[in-house]
Amino acid sequence: LSEPEQGQVGTGDCAFPPRLAPDDAWRCPHCQVLQQGVVKLSLWTLPDILIIHLKRFRQVGERRTKLSTLVRFPLRGLNMAPHVAKRSQAGSLYDLYAVCNHHGSMQGGHYTAYCRNSLDSHWYSYDDSAVEPVLEDEVSTRGAYILFYQRRNVIPSWSASSSVQGGPAPLPSALAPGDVLLRGAQAWPTQGRL
Ligand SMILES: [Zn+2]
Repeated sequence: LSEPEQGQVGTGDCAFPPRLAPDDAWRCPHCQVLQQGVVKLSLWTLPDILIIHLKRFRQVGERRTKLSTLVRFPLRGLNMAPHVAKRSQAGSLYDLYAVCNHHGSMQGGHYTAYCRNSLDSHWYSYDDSAVEPVLEDEVSTRGAYILFYQRRNVIPSWSASSSVQGGPAPLPSALAPGDVLLRGAQAWPTQGRL
C-alpha cells in the first residue's frame, strides 16, 4: 500500500514499486542490456478464505513505528478479479466477516475483533469479555490490522457452518455470537496469510 501517514487509502490503492531501482536492474535475455524492470504481482488462484494483513508496523533504522493510516476496505463485494492472472476463474467476489484491530503503539497495545454474526448478519465488537453491537460504518477504522474475507457463496469443506447467509446451521444452543466465525478462522492454516 502506498501510505500517506495520516491520510487514507483504499484496498484498490494496493501498488507495488512500479520500477526496480537502477542498481537492481534486470538483464534482458534477448538484448543482454540491463533494464529497469517493472514489478508485477498477481495471484494464480483465489482461496475460499482471503486473509489480508495490513502493514501497521514500519521499521525505520533501529526504530519500529506504528502506522495508523486509514485504509478503506469494502464490507461486501471485494472484487479480486483484477489481481488474478488466470481470468477465467469463477467467483472473485469476497465478503468481509471479521477484522482484527490493533490499538496502541509499539510499546504497548491491545487487540480487539469485529465479527459479523452469520445468524443475524449484524456486526459485533469483541473486546476481552465485552461484546457489543457495532454499526457497519464503524467497522473500518485506523486500527484495522487483519481482514478476513470469505468468497461469496462458498462454504469451505472444513467449516461446520459458514458466514454465508442461508447456509446450513445446525447450531448448539450455547453458542455466543461470532463463535462459528472465530472457529472457522482458527481452523485456517497460517500459510494462507498474505
Ligand atoms: Zn531487451
